[in-house]
Amino acid sequence: MKPVTVPFFISHQGCPHTCVFCDQRTISGANGTLPNVFQIRDKIDLWRSTAGERPLEVAFFGGTFTALPEDIQAELLAPLQPFLENGTVNSVRISTRPDCIDADHVAWLSERGVRTIELGVQSMDDAVLAASGRGHFAAASLNAIRIIKNAGLQAGAQLMPGLPKDTPLSSLASLEQVISAGADFLRIYPTVVIRGTELARRYTAGEFMPLSLERGVSLCKQLLQRAMQADIPVIRIGLQNEAGLNADSVLAGCRHPALGQLVRSQLYEDLICNFVSSGDHATVYSHPARLSDVVGTKRNNLRRQTERGVRMQVGVDDTLKKDELKVEMQDKCTIYSIVKDLHYSIHEV
Ligand code: SF4
Repeated sequence: MKPVTVPFFISHQGCPHTCVFCDQRTISGANGTLPNVFQIRDKIDLWRSTAGERPLEVAFFGGTFTALPEDIQAELLAPLQPFLENGTVNSVRISTRPDCIDADHVAWLSERGVRTIELGVQSMDDAVLAASGRGHFAAASLNAIRIIKNAGLQAGAQLMPGLPKDTPLSSLASLEQVISAGADFLRIYPTVVIRGTELARRYTAGEFMPLSLERGVSLCKQLLQRAMQADIPVIRIGLQNEAGLNADSVLAGCRHPALGQLVRSQLYEDLICNFVSSGDHATVYSHPARLSDVVGTKRNNLRRQTERGVRMQVGVDDTLKKDELKVEMQDKCTIYSIVKDLHYSIHEV
């Protein structure tokens, strides 16, 4: 059973850096305080009352957990121990920087229930990392993934296409490298320009141009498809639509409240376009969980097929896999196809 995540945002806490794109206080909408023992217990109790039979996973998002003083890390993890012992909480997830990981400390975290560590990898291109003020190079990410995997924990990698000096090719290469290194899952956060950051200064001075929404969706589509081919889950595309991110705080970049759906919709649209053309009358079936992606945001996929001269209807078939479509044509010919089989040239971005 998929666990319910109980999130705690520890914005910018523990982080010794200021990356050019980062204003963690804005991103999380929090003011930089850490939850105390009572807040942690109360939130777990509250979520337990609504989770039903599903287990809970406690997640400390934001900041750099492993760079917090060890006594603070212990204080955050201590209230979880009784919940872990009685089975209310079955795992803990933290996020941190790749250069703030060592084997002894990962073992210490594992003893306290941490089962997943998400790394802010962002890019595996040293020139991109340097231009983004990350303060570490790609080797640190490879090392961190290795340490986490050797400890038997899950390693997640966050990637940020569109950073300074990044290109679609280097984004794809970064994805390939974290997959090869053994990352268990990915998050893809296309770069956005947040007011008050160094990146905002560069953008305003004309020194940096982020990916537009259109190009960002096109690139994320190809990254997602490659991850699907490698059977690596992408658990999030685009920053959460949280309180601090809005039209005032985001100056530019690939930002949309339902970016993941936009990206998946384009994948399905491309798949459909492989089989239907003007004059066709087709019924496209998907797994029920993918129907909204096939229809598209604001029914855009249906509208665009109509504009192409295709009469398209949709339906659901729960025998299909989530990345599979069945297309019934007017001549009763039936085509099965899966998203993994799409072929892209990264130069199309
Ligand atoms: S390491 Fe993370 S929290 Fe720290 S400045 Fe960079 S992005 Fe922000």
